[in-house]
Amino acid sequence: MFVVGLTGGIGSGKSAVSQLFEQLAVDVIDADQVAREVVEPGEAALAKIAQRFGSDILLSDGNLDRKALRKIVFEAPRQRDWLEQLLHPLIRDRILLKLDNSKAEYAILASPLLLETDQHLLVNHVVVIDVDEATQISRTTERDNTDAEQVEAIIAAQIPRDQRIAKADDLIDNSGTPDELKPLVEKLHTKFLQKARQERESDFG
Ligand code: ADP
Repeated sequence: MFVVGLTGGIGSGKSAVSQLFEQLAVDVIDADQVAREVVEPGEAALAKIAQRFGSDILLSDGNLDRKALRKIVFEAPRQRDWLEQLLHPLIRDRILLKLDNSKAEYAILASPLLLETDQHLLVNHVVVIDVDEATQISRTTERDNTDAEQVEAIIAAQIPRDQRIAKADDLIDNSGTPDELKPLVEKLHTKFLQKARQERESDFG
């Protein structure tokens, strides 16, 4: 199946672009959502996390206390490595399963970590959503009700803008209005439908 990876920095518009592709009947797999699924109550990974960090890492309803876990791994790189080694293969396997089950013309893997992890190996084509840093900050602070400093820290921890752009097969400039974003997505959709068709034909040819 033809798989498009969709990425961009915080506040660049990954969710907005994903929604537009979903409206066009494309299957969008959200890597963030998959990352939450693999640590749901009942999942083996959650038991392993509780075993390592103690049951204090669980909320009273049995769900993972993400904030507490984020604090631990932020302060201890060794714990972060352990967690990544546990979760990344599980996330990858679940993404592959979802791609396998997809009946759409093509699928999109939307992920903030597409280029930072081996998730880019799962896609045929990379789309980067790009806005300048000031736009990232203003849109994210408004969305999350946070301050600019916090958003700046997240941006600093992500892949630098020029390196992200260098890895793009296609770029979406989301500096305009939402109305201006839609035709950009539609144009790419037409291109991806064609590429997906070509790939299917070469598979059978
Ligand atoms: P991401 O998923 O990459 O973090 P979002 O899609 O959530 O980014 O976009 C960040 C915020 O900016 C959201 O509140 C969204 O509604 C808003 N937004 C996205 N695109 C635009 C745009 N072209 N113009 C104005 N606001 C936008």
